[in-house]
Amino acid sequence: MRPLSRGEQERQRKRARAGRTSRARPSARVAVPRVGFGYDVHRLVPGRRLRLCGVDVPSPVGPLAHSDGDCALHALMDAILGACGLPDIGQLFPNTDARFAGADSRRLLAEVVERARRAGYRVSSVDVFLLVERPRLSPHLAAMRAVLAGCLRVSPDAVGLQATSGEGLGFVGRGEGLAAWAVAVMTADEAHPRSHRTKKGIGT
Ligand code: MG
Repeated sequence: MRPLSRGEQERQRKRARAGRTSRARPSARVAVPRVGFGYDVHRLVPGRRLRLCGVDVPSPVGPLAHSDGDCALHALMDAILGACGLPDIGQLFPNTDARFAGADSRRLLAEVVERARRAGYRVSSVDVFLLVERPRLSPHLAAMRAVLAGCLRVSPDAVGLQATSGEGLGFVGRGEGLAAWAVAVMTADEAHPRSHRTKKGIGT
């Protein structure tokens, strides 16, 4: 191979330096959003209150659960915790712990948001999807969305909420249970002293 001239060697060093600089900048300055996903399911039984997204929906059946059984908020909490790399709700609020018997899931969500804040993250946006055969949820979606925005301390336009029926199919279609999915997008809190940690990981 032909040896490089001094001019070529200098140009090669400059290119290498420029490459290192351009790679270093994004990780130092740009806070990459974190995405989390959550899912929850509950059996429906007569005589239980049906509460979804913190709103009581008139219904002859409700979720069998240790807490208030708010399927939507449970999925949402796991989405937020997952995005932050924190333990899931089964670990934070075990259903064997008497302190969480009949617990209002809005209170648990507030604690999850606070844990995320302490880990250096805030909610940017969420999307929640409900699968319920009966009753129809469309009359309640606006109220549910307002509750979600309030609990998460974000504007309502950062909250997606959708509901559909099971079309008579499967356990949802037969009215045996309901399910919820949620996605949360979390961004590093610029005011947090540890918001840009990349090497030490995320604390609880
Ligand atoms: Mg649950």
